[in-house]
Amino acid sequence: MSLKDIIAPFSVWKRALEKPYTNRKPIETRPGADRYRGFHQNAIDQCIGCGTCEEICQNNAIDLVPLEGKTSSHGDSGLRPKIDYGRCCWCALCVDICPTGSLGMSNEYIWITTDPEDFRFIPGGETKPWDDRAEGYRRAEGYDLLEAERVEMPMLSFEESQKSFIEMVQGYSKEQAMEEADRCVACGICIATCPAHMDVPAYIEAIRNDDMGEGLKIVYNANPLPASCGRVCSHACEYVCAMKHKGEAISIRWLKRYIIDQIYLGDYKEILKSADESNGKKIAVIGSGPGGLSAAYYLRLLGYEITVFDANEKAGGMLRYGIPEYRLPYEQVEKDVEYIRQLGVTINQDLKIGVDRDFKTLYDEYDAIFFSTGLKDPYGLEIAGEDLPGVQSGLDILDEVTKGKTPDIGKSVVVVGGGNVAMDAARTSRRYGAEVTILYRRREVDMPADEEEIHESQGEGCKLVTQAIPLRVEKGDSTRLKLFFGMAEMVDQGEGQRPKPVLIEGSEEVIECDTVITAIGQEADYSFIPEEIGKNLVFNRGMVQINEFRQTGDSKIFAGGDIANRKRDAISAIADGHSAAKGIDIYLTNFKDK
Ligand code: SF4
Ligand code: SF4
Repeated sequence: MSLKDIIAPFSVWKRALEKPYTNRKPIETRPGADRYRGFHQNAIDQCIGCGTCEEICQNNAIDLVPLEGKTSSHGDSGLRPKIDYGRCCWCALCVDICPTGSLGMSNEYIWITTDPEDFRFIPGGETKPWDDRAEGYRRAEGYDLLEAERVEMPMLSFEESQKSFIEMVQGYSKEQAMEEADRCVACGICIATCPAHMDVPAYIEAIRNDDMGEGLKIVYNANPLPASCGRVCSHACEYVCAMKHKGEAISIRWLKRYIIDQIYLGDYKEILKSADESNGKKIAVIGSGPGGLSAAYYLRLLGYEITVFDANEKAGGMLRYGIPEYRLPYEQVEKDVEYIRQLGVTINQDLKIGVDRDFKTLYDEYDAIFFSTGLKDPYGLEIAGEDLPGVQSGLDILDEVTKGKTPDIGKSVVVVGGGNVAMDAARTSRRYGAEVTILYRRREVDMPADEEEIHESQGEGCKLVTQAIPLRVEKGDSTRLKLFFGMAEMVDQGEGQRPKPVLIEGSEEVIECDTVITAIGQEADYSFIPEEIGKNLVFNRGMVQINEFRQTGDSKIFAGGDIANRKRDAISAIADGHSAAKGIDIYLTNFKDK
């Protein structure tokens, strides 16, 4: 070692006397570039807690965590992303993928703190000096990691569709289904919203993997009527889909249909769970609609002996008798029903409880009863002349068509109502060549029918008149009937209340028509339940009161579907059937092994 090497470290001491040549506060005068990827910002009310940012982060730098004051609601998990700057590499993939566009980065890059824990924080949920910075990184215009628009569904044109009952929606090809499945960010917000809590991201992933068997299993875990639901489900899931914030929701319903359409009924048994050995207990199910069939399926899997009783010639309830074939072909309902039959469920058709068989006999013979008999009695319009020949209910028309009869509706039809039954009756009438006018007492946005039904009915040539209140029906001159109606103004009813349609004096108009079809809703008929049993059941505004396991006031009787659930759609009835199956199992095993 030389002498210089020994002295060198001490030579730096001379610098102690020199004037510093760095700036005292260099950081204050050097802002980041406009699109610099600095610290994260999140518009917390715009974020829906979908977790897509967490999913894409390659460094596991994001966790979705609860945030005080945020609760989960439809379309919002209530969670918010927490970033860990010990892991973040500022790649900004999270910003690029965020479907709501709530996540961004400020151009701030200096953050001095002595507590390392501070570097794990919830952007937007914890106040930071850069929260209000407008500069910084945002997803660039036109740069998208995900397709915003859904893959277009091949459909019959309106010109073609109104001529026949051929199914209007043609279904995806394999390539189309895979492309659509690729848009899913697998956030799972749809699971919480689906009444049956179907594992949507899992079955969409099965499509991506081209594994239809796996898809079928996942679907059947929560829904034993998927061929029907894949066509007519009210798809609450799509209304909360994270992708809706970016463009169009994933076609969840049609992807489910795609899986089912790929598998022959004959192959189901090899793929799906088989039923347990009979446990010797017998359950009676009244009604073979979605609620009854769902309860029958899940109870049969558990080993119960199931007998379903139904008044109609074919099983399926409203799926079969309330929805026309252009939306739900009969063979698809039959596919769902047939598999349940093949599992060993006995379905007795053309057998009306209370007429052909006594409810009390079932009560005595079976270990439990589940009834899901639906709403069959149409409400009347309560106006003069509604008993004239030519005034018919929408359900009656749909029922006749299902039974292969040609309805006597003439050439001009007025449909009164704004729900799916009204739209189906109107579109069915078009298919029999009638000119159709739909009268609805509120605004189009208030119509309870599915958006597609409203759009398609108009596309097929039905004329929609909103804010129209029927007043009376009289015999017509050149046609059978004259329907008098008045126009309504919408009167505000205060916060949380729907505006009420109020007749405008002197606004009376008349339409001449051959048929007036009424479709303003239905109510239940409980006359099949004898008084001695019925007195133990509680009814509220026409609905049976049940607990979380769909058990009524009589512990042996369970109920579900439209008679007990205000959501009044097929998937809610299916969910009810599933819960009732669990409830009946718990009831009959006295909670043993549960
Ligand atoms: S991806 Fe966007 S919307 Fe989803 S949790 Fe992350 S920040 Fe929120
Ligand atoms: S910037 Fe990149 S590393 Fe950092 S949190 Fe986002 S995705 Fe993860």
